[in-house]
Order: sequence, then C-alpha cells, then structure tokens
Amino acid sequence: MGKTIIISNRLPVQLQIHKGSITAVPSVGGLATGMKSVHSGGDSLWIGWSGLTEEEIPQELESDIDKALQQHDCAKVKLSSEEVDGFYFGFSNRTIWPLFHYFLEYSEFTLDNWTTYQEVNQKFADTILEKAGAEDTIWIHDYQLMLVPQMVKKQRPNTSIGFFLHIPFPSYEIFRTLPWREEVLQGLLGSDLIGFHTYDYERHFLSSVRRLLDLEVSFNDIYLDNRVIKVDSFPMGIDYKKFSEAAKEHAKRTAAQQSELQRRLNTHKESTPDAKFLLSIDRLDYSKGIAKRLNAFEYFLNKYPQYKEKVRLIILAVPSRSNVPQYQLLKKEIDELVGRINGELATVSWTPIWYFYRSMPFENLIDLYTSCDIAWLTPIRDGMNLVAKEYVATRTDKTGVLILSEMAGSANEMNESLLINPNNFEQIADTLYEAINMPIQEQKERNEQLQKRLERYNVEKWANDFMTSLERQKHLDAANISRRLTENLITSVVSDYTKAKKRLLFLDYDGTLAGFHTDPQKASPDVALYQLLDRIKAQKNTDLYLISGRDKDTFKRWFMKKEYNMIVEHGVWISKKGGEFDLLEKVKNDWMEKIRPVLESFVDRTPGSFVEEKNYSLAWHYRNTDPDFGNKRATELTTVLTSLIANDNLSVLSGNKVLEIKNSGVNKGRAAMRVLVEDDYDFVFAMGDDWTDEFMFQELPETAITVKVGRQKTQAKYYVENTKRVRELLERFK
Ligand code: UDP
Repeated sequence: MGKTIIISNRLPVQLQIHKGSITAVPSVGGLATGMKSVHSGGDSLWIGWSGLTEEEIPQELESDIDKALQQHDCAKVKLSSEEVDGFYFGFSNRTIWPLFHYFLEYSEFTLDNWTTYQEVNQKFADTILEKAGAEDTIWIHDYQLMLVPQMVKKQRPNTSIGFFLHIPFPSYEIFRTLPWREEVLQGLLGSDLIGFHTYDYERHFLSSVRRLLDLEVSFNDIYLDNRVIKVDSFPMGIDYKKFSEAAKEHAKRTAAQQSELQRRLNTHKESTPDAKFLLSIDRLDYSKGIAKRLNAFEYFLNKYPQYKEKVRLIILAVPSRSNVPQYQLLKKEIDELVGRINGELATVSWTPIWYFYRSMPFENLIDLYTSCDIAWLTPIRDGMNLVAKEYVATRTDKTGVLILSEMAGSANEMNESLLINPNNFEQIADTLYEAINMPIQEQKERNEQLQKRLERYNVEKWANDFMTSLERQKHLDAANISRRLTENLITSVVSDYTKAKKRLLFLDYDGTLAGFHTDPQKASPDVALYQLLDRIKAQKNTDLYLISGRDKDTFKRWFMKKEYNMIVEHGVWISKKGGEFDLLEKVKNDWMEKIRPVLESFVDRTPGSFVEEKNYSLAWHYRNTDPDFGNKRATELTTVLTSLIANDNLSVLSGNKVLEIKNSGVNKGRAAMRVLVEDDYDFVFAMGDDWTDEFMFQELPETAITVKVGRQKTQAKYYVENTKRVRELLERFK
C-alpha cells in the first residue's frame, strides 16, 4: 500500500525563524483540519510552499527547515520572490481568481505571469516526482496548481491522481475568455478524479471540456485517450465537533475567563438588551461583496428606520492579498463607507457598524459566532463559504439566523437558511427584517436541520469520500485495462492471424480506419490507408470487408478501383472485388418523404447540423453543433422520430454524433453473418467505433475477435484507444 501525497500551494504549517532557530507551527485552516484523517500516521506527505521565499531562507538554515518540516510530514517547494509574484500574486490571484469568480474586468492576461505559473507548476510536479513512489496516491489542491496533474501523469501514467478545486468553476462563457484555456483544461485532465464543491461547478467544467477540447463526455466521465476521468462534486464540510465543542466550553466560562472582546460584546448587550447583533465575517476580497453589504445595511436602516439603535453590524474583514491593487482599492472603499455610514447615522449611544480589519484567533471567532443573533454572509461569488457553516455549528442552543447569498457554494446545502441575491437590496432589507423578527421556534427548527447535515457531512467525511472515490476510480481503471488490447494480447491475435487457414476481416470506416471530419465528404482515405488495406487484401486466404453506414456512391468513388469488398448503408448493399453493388436486403425507401421534412426542420433550428441522404436511410449529423445543444436536440429528435415511425418497421440508430433512420431489419450484424456463412473461416475479426457496430459485435460467433475503438460501453471483447492504434494493429497483420 502506497502513501498519500497531498499537494497545495501552502503547507499546513507556518515556519518561524527566531534567532537562527526554526520552528514549524501547524496551522488550523479548514483544509489542514480536513486532511487530518488523510495526513496522519506517517504514511503521508504534504508538499507545498513554506511561505518563505528563497531569499528569506538563509542557506545555512535550509537543512534545519527541511528537518522541521519533516517532523510534520511535510516537504517544501522552493520559490523565489519573483516566482511568488508571477505565479501566486500574478497568474493565480490576478487572472484565475477574478475570472473564476466572474470578475472578468479584473482579470489580467499577462504572458509573463502565465509563463511563471507554468514554471512553478512544473516545480511542484518535479518535487512530487522526486518524492512519490510508484504506488502512492496523489491529491492536488486548488487553482494555483491546475497544470500539475498533467505534468505528473505524463511521467507516471499509472499513478492515481486526484484534484480538488476549492473555488468556483465558471460557466463556459466566462472561462472561454482565458487565452490559455485549453492548456488549463488539459492540465486538470491529467487527474483521474476531479472534485468540485457543487454540481454547478462540475457542470460548467464538463461543458468547457466538451466545447473546447471536443472530448467525449458521458454523464460525469470524460474519455481521453486510454483513460476515463471522473468528475464529481464533494461539498467541503467543517470540523463540526471542534466548533460545537468550543461553543459549549465558551458558554460555561465565568466572567473572569472571558476574552476582552467578549466582555465588550457583553457590555453592549447589557446597555441595549433588545438590540440585535448582525455578524459579517470575510476575507477582504471583492468576491465577498462587503461594500455592497454596507450599502445594503444603509438601505435597510432607511427602509425600516425603527431599527436605528436596535441593530448593530459587526464586520470582521480579514486582510488578504494586500499587495494586489484591487485589494488595496477595496480596503480604501470599505474604510470610507464605514466612516460615512457611521458618520451619518450614529447617535450618542449608538454606532451602527463595528468594523475590525484584522485576523482574529479562533477563540474570538467563537465569541463573535455565539454572541451574534444573525450571521449575514452575502458574497457575490464564493466557492463554498465555511463561515456560514461554522456559525451554525456554534449555535448550540439552536437559536440564531443565517442569511446567506445564493451565490455561495454552501447555499446548495443550506436551504434552511434565508437565501438572498446579494444584488437585490429590497430583498436583503426585507430578509433582515424577517431575520430580526423570526420566532425562536422557527430559528430552532431551521438550525436543527442545518446542524444535522453539517455534523454528518463534516470535513473528515469530505476528505474520506474523495479518497474513496479516487480509490474506486483506480480499480475501475484496472478493470477496464484488462479489456484493453495490450501488447501481449496483440501478439496472440497476430499469431492466430498468421496460423489461420481462412481469414475474414470486417473493418468499419469512420472513427475506425479514419478520423472524423467536420464535413464527412472530406474524410477521404489517405495514401497510407490505401497501402495498408492493399497489403492485407493481397494476402492469400484473406477476405477483407469494409463495412460502413456510408452511402454506396461515396464508397464507389473511394474504393471501387481498389477492388475491396464493401458493405455499405449498414448492410443494404454489397460489392465484392470491384463488382457492382448488389442489394443484400430488400428494403423500402418510400418512408423518406415523411421523415425528411422533420429532419429539415431540426436542421433549421440547430445551427451546424445537416441531413445526409442515402439510398435507404436518412442521417441527421450534429458533429458541428454546439455539443450541449446538439445532444439536447438529438434527444428531442429521437423522441419525435420514435413516435412517427412506430408502425413503419424503421429504427433510429444513434451513431457518433449522428442519428440515422433506417429499416429495422438491416444492420451490420446481419450483413456480416451473411458473409460469414459463405466460407469456412477460422479467423474472424471485426472492428468498429459506434453503436451501429455493436450489431456486429453481438451477432458474430463467440470465437470472433471483436474490437471497439474508444472506451465506451460495448459488447466487443477488446478495445483500442483511437484510429492511430487501429492502424498500428492492422500493420501487424502480415
Ligand atoms: N477565519 C479565521 N480568522 C478570522 C476570520 C476567519 O481563521 O479572523 C477563518 C474562518 O473560521 C473560516 C475561514 O477563515 O474557516 C474562511 O473560510 P471561507 O470559506 O468562509 O472563505 P475563504 O477565505 O476561504 O474565501
């Protein structure tokens, strides 16, 4: 059993250099706590930046630092201050952070920063490669390290890699503006499992993968070369026990044991016993909507003036990224707003806003959580928002109201809170009114539900769920790999081929011998393919059939002179050794008049789609449509057609980005069986990539070697990854 290697931008410890001696102090952040169950017992390693730049670490202390980190099962990635600037403050926080939080106008696209981001990601990957063994499982965290999965996978294809994004993944319309969007997606796709906080982020990611990389996505599986990448949502929880226990302890404290902050809070409570305390806690970040909240507070006091002197807003803004200009401007804006509102509304005995710009120790956070009647958390965008969960966890008597922005990831799991749109001041003012007046019984009912959920899906469960899912993916992969046409299997197939007295080969064309093209007519055979097929055809005792859904005229043009055997239109026509096409099946085509207008109406409404007319079938192609829209239209068309053709002995066949309507009795399996009985074949081989080929795989006898191109669900015995592998395999049939 291997180790678990965790990778994040920052290590879960703080290094302190004091008079030449080093100490590493564990930090208490959400991630560090969550990973406790994963990062413990000596069989795990956490790799990250120590927080000190190369310039800040005296050379003579380097080995002491490594030792101090080792004691916490940590290893550092060395970064210079220039690298931290370009990678962390630059690309991570001035490009990705604003873009992924929908602040498009703040997002800077600077080539130098992107270059540094790539270099630093490579440094992280190199450290992983240096420290990780072959059996180890790797879990990479967050937006600073999105290229690392691919960098590691390239060198260690069999290592199991998980990635979790702690911030939102934006909609395709936003993500597509990133100049390096394909590289970022490719980077992430080095993982075997990619986790998001919510289903929406997952959905946005999958949509970008489909649209920008044109990869096959089935539910939440992405097919890439020979791999299946799972994408799933795992909403991150909190250390529920830690917060609820701390609140219980807090309630037992005598006046003498209480903190200075708590004593001040008490004084205010005593002076105005019926006044409500509203709490707002965030890092000082534009995504948190602090300025908007202040304006909304003023709006509320003007709409419901009876609450002047009856509410007090406590704002804790934690300093963050203060060397990024936007954050400096924001700080100034908030300082001024607080000053103006307090200046305009304060009375002798009442200051509406209490403003703290600092980070508070855990103990003071508990003071605030337990003392405030209402938590008012209204980010404009937030990947999760843990403060909302922490507030609820500390309400041990189940009182308290949570007002939460529906733009926070946690809103998905916190339906019992009062959800608001942070841009709707009218709604916010009314919700504050509702919160202030909410009966105790209702508060308790709501919190009871919330607490139950938070206690059950705590941060430890989150981490374990992710690891279990990653482990499962590894086994699934192993199961899939057993069906892959590996070198050993190929050797045995080639040996059977060589020994056979009479061989029969069925080869599908599109997606098997040749790749797809936006215009099917342009996917004509290349010289190398002709040479390959000529070689096989020339072999003694070998019957080679191209078997396709294509129309006979196209195949006549491409292959007739080559005198290959051909079965076209899914088994309607057959041509042997350059002879004319004969009907294999007696079929009708008078139904086309009825169906054609239906398909045409879908073409009109689905840009990029078109109808292909064959002698005995009609095909609606949607490869060139928007992938999500195309899939939706295909489902719609299937439903429409299914009811239309109910009595016509027709069927709708779903191929690779094509729907084909054809006679029910005709299929490649039936056609292949007709050929099979014509001689005494002792080597039967069939290859194809889509649903139309499944008929062949099903019908051919058990002894046949059936091969699917791609890793989708199939009746075939084996699979190969792509058309390149198909050709490599056929080259060995000598
Ligand atoms: N927090 C803290 N000290 C403070 C204020 C907040 O340690 O003075 C913690 C808080 O308990 C929470 C985290 O910071 O766990 C903030 O997480 P959240 O998901 O709400 O926002 P983020 O900062 O990750 O965007």
